[in-house]
Amino acid sequence: MIASINPATGTVIKKFKETSKKEVNDAIERARKAQQAWAAKSRGERILIIGKLAEILKKRAKKIGTTVKQEVGYSLPTEMELEDIIAGIDYYTKRYAKINDINMPVDPRLQPNTQAWVEFVPQGVIGHIGIWNYPFWQTMITAIPALLAGNAIVYKPSEYVTLTGLKIEELIHEAGVPKDVYITVVGGKDVGKMIVKSNVDAITFTGGIDTGEYIVKNAGIKPLILELGGNDPAIVCQDANIGQAAKGIAYGTFVHAGQSCIRTKRVYVVKSIADKFLKEFTHITQKLSATMPMIRADARAKVHKAVQAAIKKGAKLLFGGKLPEGKGFYYPNTALLLPHDNFEVIQKETFGPVCSIRIVKDQDEAVKLANASQYGLGASVWTQNFTSSLVARKIQAGTVWINTCQEPLICGEYNQGWKKSSIPTSQDRLMMFLKKKANISHIPMELRPWWPQ
Ligand code: NAD
Repeated sequence: MIASINPATGTVIKKFKETSKKEVNDAIERARKAQQAWAAKSRGERILIIGKLAEILKKRAKKIGTTVKQEVGYSLPTEMELEDIIAGIDYYTKRYAKINDINMPVDPRLQPNTQAWVEFVPQGVIGHIGIWNYPFWQTMITAIPALLAGNAIVYKPSEYVTLTGLKIEELIHEAGVPKDVYITVVGGKDVGKMIVKSNVDAITFTGGIDTGEYIVKNAGIKPLILELGGNDPAIVCQDANIGQAAKGIAYGTFVHAGQSCIRTKRVYVVKSIADKFLKEFTHITQKLSATMPMIRADARAKVHKAVQAAIKKGAKLLFGGKLPEGKGFYYPNTALLLPHDNFEVIQKETFGPVCSIRIVKDQDEAVKLANASQYGLGASVWTQNFTSSLVARKIQAGTVWINTCQEPLICGEYNQGWKKSSIPTSQDRLMMFLKKKANISHIPMELRPWWPQ
């Protein structure tokens, strides 16, 4: 059994029986059959159905928000995410209408009477293993492009957000996507493993690096779309607008109880302005209270343990760091000033409201430390000077912000990380769910001079 729990109170909302291995495999087989008919529909038909989904989402915004809030305990209005998804439906339907075959040049002297073109066809059945932190948005940014492209999806929501996952399935079906083209299976890690080891045609996964590595080792040869953890650095340059940088970083590090892949997790501030920045950052943060709980008690305990270990090892606690009493899994906004980078709290992703700060000599040292990481999801640079902003070019990350942070492109487009944060491609989300077929056609046929005559 798995349980949906309200993290703000710790109370169980509902329990669910996990989908069995046989049921997972049956779901994949049903999806495989249904996918053929779905892919055979015209693009226009699929575009209409996904367009209808936007209308349904507008009508149901409040209900979706309530379900998500119950399971994750949001601080931000989910309406913002819904707006992005609705804008994304418009973006993807227009974008999809423009994906055409590519006619390839053929030299008639080398290949007479030959035509060549590349077409883009669906991957087939996608196994989607979902995440919980922005459960509605994260699921939709996969479902929309993947369905438009003609794929079927077998989706396993995170065990923390089963109700949201089932709500999404209901809305997608209501829009007109056939039942077997979008199937939700229910469960935790074990059901995730069943999908990994199944014969789905591709896997899309959002979650931690350890799970990503398990998938790479166990999925066999197939496309893997992995969106993994991050440890985003922020570099505060000597010429930063300190007041604004402090506000931006306070938002970027503590938003969503620190449970965001692209949150600011490490801050490298140049020595000459460090005192001023720390004062401002502390001042701003005093005004922020931790309004959102962490997802589970064990997630909070893990974060607290890392904070305590850092203090024991010599980090200075600037504020926070105390386990609160009372209901729910709240953790206070916490900042640590570290004398060096050899701390778990800065080497590994801390998925909670903890900001690790280092004072560095200059920008070059900041860039060196920022890049000395297995992660490469995002990074931010804070400066008012164009020349300093060029530091962004030296940063090894999939997304770099200058004077802002934690702002993805529409539907998380091109948000893939470098290094272990992802398997980066140059494709957008729609193209990830398509594969290419190169066609070389020789009509009318004649003997090629290089064949045996
Ligand atoms: P997790 O990897 O433990 O779980 C994510 C999903 O994978 C859940 O559905 C879970 O049931 C399933 N799962 C767990 N172990 C599995 C296994 N061995 N095989 C198959 N499925 C398995 O993730 P988490 O720790 O709960 O989530 C936080 C992580 O997610 C952080 O690292 C965060 O940065 C990352 N994240 C990344 C992005 C992104 O877009 N890059 C977005 C959100 C979160």
